[in-house]
Amino acid sequence: VHEKGLPDRAIVTTCAYCGVGCSFKAEMKGNEVIRMVPAASGRANEGHSCVKGRFAFGYATHPDRITTPLIRQSIHDPWQAVSWDEAIAYAAAEFARIQAKYGRESVGGITSSRCTNEETYLVQKLVRAAFGNNNVDTCARVCHAPTGYGLKRTLGESAGTQDFASVMHADVILVIGANPTEAHPVFGARLKRRLRQGARLIVIDPRATELVRGTHVRATYHLPLKPGTNVALLNALSHVIVSEGLVDEAFVAERCEPEAFAQWRDFIAQPRHSPEASAAITGVPAASVRAAARLYANAPNAAIYYGLGVTEHRQGATAVIAIANLAMATGNFGRPGVGVNPLRGQNNVQGSCDMGSFPHEFPGYRHVSDAPTRALFEAAWGVPLSSEPGLRLPNMLAEARAGRFKGLYLQGEDLVQSEPNQRHVRAALAAMECVVVQDLFLNETAAYAHVFLPGASFLEKNGTFTNAERRISRVRQVMPPLAGYEDWQVTQKLASALGYPMTYTHPAEIMDEIARLTPQFRGVSYAKLEARGSLQWPCNDEAPDGTPVLHVDGFVRGKGAFLLTEYVPTPQHPDARFPLILTTGRILSQYNVGTQTRRTANTLWDDADLLHLHPEDAAARGIADGDRVHLESQVGSTILRAVLDDRLQPGLVFTTFHFPESRTNALITSSSDWATNCPEYKVTAVQVRRVDAT
Ligand code: SF4
Repeated sequence: VHEKGLPDRAIVTTCAYCGVGCSFKAEMKGNEVIRMVPAASGRANEGHSCVKGRFAFGYATHPDRITTPLIRQSIHDPWQAVSWDEAIAYAAAEFARIQAKYGRESVGGITSSRCTNEETYLVQKLVRAAFGNNNVDTCARVCHAPTGYGLKRTLGESAGTQDFASVMHADVILVIGANPTEAHPVFGARLKRRLRQGARLIVIDPRATELVRGTHVRATYHLPLKPGTNVALLNALSHVIVSEGLVDEAFVAERCEPEAFAQWRDFIAQPRHSPEASAAITGVPAASVRAAARLYANAPNAAIYYGLGVTEHRQGATAVIAIANLAMATGNFGRPGVGVNPLRGQNNVQGSCDMGSFPHEFPGYRHVSDAPTRALFEAAWGVPLSSEPGLRLPNMLAEARAGRFKGLYLQGEDLVQSEPNQRHVRAALAAMECVVVQDLFLNETAAYAHVFLPGASFLEKNGTFTNAERRISRVRQVMPPLAGYEDWQVTQKLASALGYPMTYTHPAEIMDEIARLTPQFRGVSYAKLEARGSLQWPCNDEAPDGTPVLHVDGFVRGKGAFLLTEYVPTPQHPDARFPLILTTGRILSQYNVGTQTRRTANTLWDDADLLHLHPEDAAARGIADGDRVHLESQVGSTILRAVLDDRLQPGLVFTTFHFPESRTNALITSSSDWATNCPEYKVTAVQVRRVDAT
């Protein structure tokens, strides 16, 4: 890096990887980014970065980038390079043909949490205004959709409650289903700083993560539950709080619905929720649960941070609700150092949800059946809009397999590698008549595409991302788009070709429209973002400078709603054929499906997904460190290298999903969250054998 010398200018932008949303200076020499330096002015990172972010520029100019639009009539034909006009005209004609033949509902669009707010807003606008249906979804469907559901129902807002700085006021920190030192490293470092100052830590995780076994700071209590039993454990914590008189009665009386609380208190006090009863389900000793509950409830300020280990379950939404119940019962809302904080995996999960990329909600989380909201958007967009919720992503795929869903516009999402049950995904894509992929690289999904529209990396575009603390930050163009257009311009061209003209000249105009139509963004503009650096929504007339902490004087919904959270076992349990449970997660050096990180100069390169298994399980199968092992579930199989790991409980195996050749998600079943269809990536019954023993 030092060989590159001194930059001739630096442009501040936002990391396009995880939901921490670190601010970086892209140091430029001519049109080349020579290094990324964390910006001290960034409120989310305060001058810090992780190894991924530091190297997050090499992929933008990687030779694998596709810079010419491509079309083909059949997925068995070779690609043909064409002009932008030809590609857009071909895609628009195909969508029009399909809708004329199979009906208005036969097409849809998927946007990505890696795209900017402005791009996502335009995709959902294209689907609603140009396709004329609500078949739009986002990859947040497969990560934090249960967060949106659970927090909206209990608190009234589908978002984390605190800014990251709030953790420095927490006396007790409860981390459940998250591994922030690997997946959200800059926030993980801040959390560890608070622990070094004396805060106590409870970790609820099937694995002993770094926060459990760290050399400098470590958890006071680790509750190593069996995967799939979050709700039983959270109920047991609440049971202790209720049965031992640890409820914050004054807070509950003032801030929560009394009847709902009384009903919940009766429910949670029942003996089946006691730590002793739940130990048989969770595997966590009752004494540990009691001690952890007391520590959490007695803290002056106790904060909860959670990740996909909560949401990606059959009961993902129920677990989010159970977390909100726990925090309400102990009065942990409305001030620094407390709250319920989802750690978002991708840079713009929060934003993609805010922007209305769900089939039932307009921007700002308002239901499509709500007549005044629909009238607002119809007036602004000049077209009648459907009041019927559209298809969720898994339903689009199911309808495609059934021959009823025929065309998909896919921006920035590699479905084949990211979705569970890859066999079903491939069959669905192969059954469609027009798949349009807009991406940087010819990814796994592009094998099923009829049109490929080259995307622009975050370094080539203007826009905004919204991080896990609701902070809206500018993404600034540091180099011209390699293929000639930013992604919002491509969506605009496609909408116009479909007969719904869009005429924006800059993403700032899109943000102005978002601000006019979305209450949480009412006071947001590029001019204000330039002046303030970043803004946390809600940013409106009541809070012109933004809102670091939500629910200060009352919950957004009025009174907080306790909801009942009955534990229901997942169908993914060990049996004679599949006696082990597979859970998945991330490692520090890689980001999601690796499309970007595998194309950078990251010196901490990991070159394969590995299967971690407990030494006892390995010994029982004659497996040694480094052996090739065959991993099989009900729906798929793969071969990985084994690594023996006593951070796991016996019976549990773990791997990552960063490398396409591993096909990790081929093993994940179609089991999903009852409320939102978020796939149950975290619990899959499997068998493992040494390769030469299969
Ligand atoms: Fe920050 Fe996350 Fe980017 Fe790392 S990957 S630099 S923690 S935003």
